[in-house]
Amino acid sequence: MSGEGVLVYAEYIEGMLHPVTYELIGKGRELISKLGGSVKAVIIGSGASGRAEELIHYGADEVYVYECSEGVALNTLLHKELLVSLIHEIKPKLVLYGATPWGRSLAPRVAAALRTGLTADCLDVYVTDDGSIVQVRPAFTGNIIAHIKTVTTPVMTTVRYKVFKPPKKAPSRNGKVIIREVPADGDIHHKEIEVLGKVREKEVNIADADVIVAGGKGLKRREDLKLLEELAELLGGVLAVSRPLVDAGWASKDRQVGFSGNVVKPRVYIACGISGSPQHLAGMKDSKVIIAVNIDPSASIAKYSDLFVVGDLYEVVPKLIEEIKRVRGKP
Ligand SMILES: Cc1cc2nc3c(=O)[nH]c(=O)nc-3n(C[C@H](O)[C@H](O)[C@H](O)COP(=O)(O)OP(=O)(O)OC[C@H]3O[C@@H](n4cnc5c(N)ncnc54)[C@H](O)[C@@H]3O)c2cc1C
Repeated sequence: MSGEGVLVYAEYIEGMLHPVTYELIGKGRELISKLGGSVKAVIIGSGASGRAEELIHYGADEVYVYECSEGVALNTLLHKELLVSLIHEIKPKLVLYGATPWGRSLAPRVAAALRTGLTADCLDVYVTDDGSIVQVRPAFTGNIIAHIKTVTTPVMTTVRYKVFKPPKKAPSRNGKVIIREVPADGDIHHKEIEVLGKVREKEVNIADADVIVAGGKGLKRREDLKLLEELAELLGGVLAVSRPLVDAGWASKDRQVGFSGNVVKPRVYIACGISGSPQHLAGMKDSKVIIAVNIDPSASIAKYSDLFVVGDLYEVVPKLIEEIKRVRGKP
């Protein structure tokens, strides 16, 4: 399938447009300067037509809208079917999805149906002078950064949230909105299965937090996370953890920072009892200010910290909490 331009899948779930969409559109605009073609976006769901203009304001030239009732909107197979037929029709060179749980579930289905490759969890995408699309992602647990060319077309990529800058909104921008019919439910080949129990909702979105207090294996007990949570709350932030704490069942995956967790860029990141493995650093090293508390003066995280406190977190954190309360006049 030879094609042109970039198609961005606008993730629109239960009335929420995921902000990674704006970042992908911004990247799409940058890429078409070398790739040619235009930036198209596709949005599917109940109320989708009300968000089409917004996608144009962020840089899309054309937006394909599939308006559907709430009942059928949250069906990955429906999204897959619609995307596959749209991609056959408009033949983009590159399709971008957010590497969100939804995007990670949808993109492989579309890629498999189109018999094309998919590069997941990318940190960058660029176009070479000869017009090839290169996808950049960590490999071998983050020890190398791989630059990947896909031989099949279209090129399909999922990109992590917050790795690209969102473009500025330009309400004066014009574009084309194309309203499409969603086929009757019967046309989508899927089988309803009974969901046993409610799917657990996402606990917290640490990627959007301004302040993060993160705990690692320096913590002795699960209950001690409460100490860090108290500090986080006082600072208007959220609690996050390193992966071993998720593996131990102390915290949910939503709270994991790192290579196989979330990428975060808060204003302040306070790492307590975290050594600074490459896999952890991959998720937080771009934080504006990094503060670390560690008993080991040679811990790797020291090299990345703006402020490195050599000390026991069980002494340092309570003192910090006490001091914040004292300054604020709280008991
Ligand atoms: C494929 C793969 C993917 C991975 N993805 C991730 C990921 O996404 N995120 C992630 O975090 N890890 C990830 N890991 C795991 C990673 O390699 C490390 O094992 C992990 O980051 C270490 O976590 P930690 O820093 O909490 O623990 P440790 O490395 O054990 O460090 C604990 C630190 O606490 C300090 N300490 C101990 N007691 C105290 C105290 N009382 N006060 C203060 N400091 C104290 C110690 O000096 C030490 O520096 C991944 C690994 C693999 C193989």
